[in-house]
Amino acid sequence: MAVERVLTQARAATPSGGWRTMRAPDASGPAPWVGATIMLGALAAFGLAIWHLTVDRYGTASHAAATIGRIVLTLLAVVAAAFASADPHAEPHVRRGWVGIALAMLCAWAGQLLIFVAGAVGDSTWVVGLGRAVMVLFYPVCIAALLCWPQAPRGRLARGTYLLDIAIVACAAGVVAWHDLTVRGVPGERLTGALLLHGMVAGDLIALLTISMLWQRSGVGLRPSTWRGASRPLVFLAAALALHFFADLGSIILGHIATADSLAWPRALRPLAIAGIAIAAWTQYGDRAEVTAAGTRSGEAALRSSAIPVIVTFPCFAVLLLTTTEYSAGPVAGLVLGAALLSVLAFVRVGVATREAMQAMARSAAREGEARFQALVQHTNDLIVILDLDTTIRWISPSVSRLFALGDTQTIGRPLLDLIHADDRAVAERFLHSLAEHPMRATDDRGRDLFPPPQCEWRMCDGDGRWHTVDNVGTNLLAEPTVRGLVLTSRDVTERRVIEEQYMHQAFHDPLTDLANRALFLYQVGHALARGARQGHAVAVMFLDLDHFKAVNDTLGHATGDRLLVEAARRLQSCVRGSDLIARLGGDEFAVLVEGADNEEELVALADRIVAALGAPFTLRGKDVFVSASIGIARAQAGESTDEVVRNADVAMYLAKTRGKGRWELFAPHMHHAAVERLELEADLRRAIEREELSVEYQAIVDLTSGHVEGAEALVRWHRLGKGTVPPSTFIPIAEETGLIVPIGRWVLREVARRAAEWRREFERPLRVTVNLSGRHLQDAAVIDDVRDALQAAALPASALVLELAEHTLTHHSQHALERLTQLRALGVAIAIDDFGTGVSSLSTLQRYPIDVLKIDRAFVEGMGAETGLDGGTLARAIIALADTMGLETMAEGVETEAQRSTLLALGCVRGQGYLFSAPVPPADFARLVGTRGTLRAARP
Ligand code: C2E
Ligand code: CA
Ligand code: CA
Repeated sequence: MAVERVLTQARAATPSGGWRTMRAPDASGPAPWVGATIMLGALAAFGLAIWHLTVDRYGTASHAAATIGRIVLTLLAVVAAAFASADPHAEPHVRRGWVGIALAMLCAWAGQLLIFVAGAVGDSTWVVGLGRAVMVLFYPVCIAALLCWPQAPRGRLARGTYLLDIAIVACAAGVVAWHDLTVRGVPGERLTGALLLHGMVAGDLIALLTISMLWQRSGVGLRPSTWRGASRPLVFLAAALALHFFADLGSIILGHIATADSLAWPRALRPLAIAGIAIAAWTQYGDRAEVTAAGTRSGEAALRSSAIPVIVTFPCFAVLLLTTTEYSAGPVAGLVLGAALLSVLAFVRVGVATREAMQAMARSAAREGEARFQALVQHTNDLIVILDLDTTIRWISPSVSRLFALGDTQTIGRPLLDLIHADDRAVAERFLHSLAEHPMRATDDRGRDLFPPPQCEWRMCDGDGRWHTVDNVGTNLLAEPTVRGLVLTSRDVTERRVIEEQYMHQAFHDPLTDLANRALFLYQVGHALARGARQGHAVAVMFLDLDHFKAVNDTLGHATGDRLLVEAARRLQSCVRGSDLIARLGGDEFAVLVEGADNEEELVALADRIVAALGAPFTLRGKDVFVSASIGIARAQAGESTDEVVRNADVAMYLAKTRGKGRWELFAPHMHHAAVERLELEADLRRAIEREELSVEYQAIVDLTSGHVEGAEALVRWHRLGKGTVPPSTFIPIAEETGLIVPIGRWVLREVARRAAEWRREFERPLRVTVNLSGRHLQDAAVIDDVRDALQAAALPASALVLELAEHTLTHHSQHALERLTQLRALGVAIAIDDFGTGVSSLSTLQRYPIDVLKIDRAFVEGMGAETGLDGGTLARAIIALADTMGLETMAEGVETEAQRSTLLALGCVRGQGYLFSAPVPPADFARLVGTRGTLRAARP
């Protein structure tokens, strides 16, 4: 219990009454000259007092100078009080009080002035009378002013008590005055002066009574240590009023002795009393940093009351006793003595009872506090543990067993470190050690902690073996007799830490693949570069882009695309070392950070592994989907920044893409140039259509037997402004990548359809034109409309158009391609597979598509002919045989020699194109070709 009591003091002690203090918004005081003047005034008051006691007692003529000095001093007090009333930090009540004090001092000043003037101009009684009347006004005004203070009695009972006290004081003063004036006797001419003096003493007493009440109700004690801040002006005011009281009382008592210097002491006290008020006003600014406000007063303070009403009754009893003994020593005197004794006993009795009540109240408050603490400790979710100096657990709060399932047997007498996670033990040990070394907390003079309490976090095991992260606040109470230990107040922050970690993870990771995100990647690259520079090892960055991901997303949907990305991330992870960092930079872009990439072969081997891993088919929704990866590798050169390395990897990746995809490129400085060039090319290509830089050439397709022109393949050409003709092998891949191939393809379709219709009319022959259709264009839903519109615009029958598609476009986007091709075929156009034999399409794939023509790739035709025998044509033979069984037409590309032509004919391929017949030529040349001869076989012998 003792422990809890101390902890009550340490933790739960909240101010339950009295004064509240708070920081003032600003702490500017009065001008320094005010203080200096008041100090000078106070010194002058001292001088005056000394003067009274030395020179004045012999009744010299400089009495007038002393009076003038007092008048000036009083005026100073008026000014000081007025200043105090303007104290911006004071409470409104207090400021009003100071206004009152200023007025009261003004009354005193005016009174003094009038009396002095009266004395100077010769004795004019009514002026003296007026002066006295004004001077006496000091008391009601001063008392009213004091009642403005926030501690003044409010409420009926308190006011009642106060009035009763005033009545007692007035009554006692009246009794003594009556005794003094009548029994002792005062000569007639001095009666007014004596009455006035007695009235002033009564006034002094009531003022003292009032201020002592304020004093007690504000919790200021008799010990000077309690005279702090806002209570300091009260203390000086009380002192000033007390001096005033003694001066007045001294005047009455010493007045009876009536020697020349008998009044020197009371006179000496008066300037000091006035100076006291000025100083009180000055100290109103004393603690400028504090504003005071009345709090609710505790019951105990209300019980305390001034001793003045009790004390003032004693002189009454004294004069009563004196008088009775003077007149009759008989039974009346005994009765009076008995009555006086009884009254004293009754007073003592009341005093003791009040004291007892106060003690009972204090005890009950303490009990209440303890009960409150008990309840707090019982129900708190904080764990409170008291440790011995050697960190053995001595006491635990009930919450420890409630929340951590740890009973006394598992804790008391055991070292706390046993419950702490092995990894955190060193930290905890250091923390407890430092806590033990720094005993009490350092506090400032207002009891506030100078330093925040020491705090530390560690993992702690509960009774079920689970780990919790706890945040601990330590207090060293070794010196506290009731505790003598280290107190830890701990809070379970496990959930908060988990959430924080989750937030951190989310901020730096890609939610889909859980790989690092761009931010974390760049951050780590920066660190790796710094580490590499320090430790002298190489750092490399790889940029990875999936090659046909967009198609997968477009055709199979985003959910499937996401699955592919997750699988790609998994494959990537299986390729790299544990120390390499993989990141997803966004979309289908990944990156790998390789530290210690000193060996270029290893780096290349890693890139090869990744290309192979991502080149293998992905099985999505039961289908095999092919996406490859283009990789750019950049090795950091000395002094290169993160941005530079990353940009280099990007450039290399770009090049890997343009150089055919599904491959890697190692960055070399010249690549920058290539990359810039490519960007320019791209920009120019965008404007090629509107600048009318595109044209179409036609390569005749002939009957291999007769050489008869049956149609033509349309091949697009780009005459780039100022740069000559750009080969399709350069710009077609870029157009495909950027999507520009769609408008280009649309333009080609319209252009070719127009020409074809023209020629068919001109030559009255069923010429068939073949147009290359990009896989990218096929993905676009608009392709159907594009073809239909081109045919309609040119009034060309659909049967006159053949659309060529490269074999690989079919293998990639199977399902979608199938639907589009079926729709196209429904328009009436024929479908040809270009470059057949270079892709990996299987027989089953072929069978699923609506195909009319297989175009045997130039590579197979090349190997044919007399010189090389029929070996090179083995594959061509197989293709032709295959087409035959499937009922497809075959057509040979790149026929350059007579031998090739005859071989093809022998194998059963009857149609073809190539330089043997004609190179691709502009439309006018092609028209001439068809118009003049119509048969191209004779062109070459
Ligand atoms: P491709 O469809 O295989 O076109 C045939 C290519 O072979 C043409 O190259 C042509 O000039 C060339 N060629 C024709 N006969 C011979 C020959 O006897 N020997 C040799 N060595 N080559 C011959 P070109 O015009 O450079 O076109 C290259 C590729 O660009 C085309 O290959 C095609 O895939 C693409 N392409 C051309 N025009 C278009 C177009 O309008 N749209 C689309 N999507 N692609 C096009
Ligand atoms: Ca073609
Ligand atoms: Ca071809």
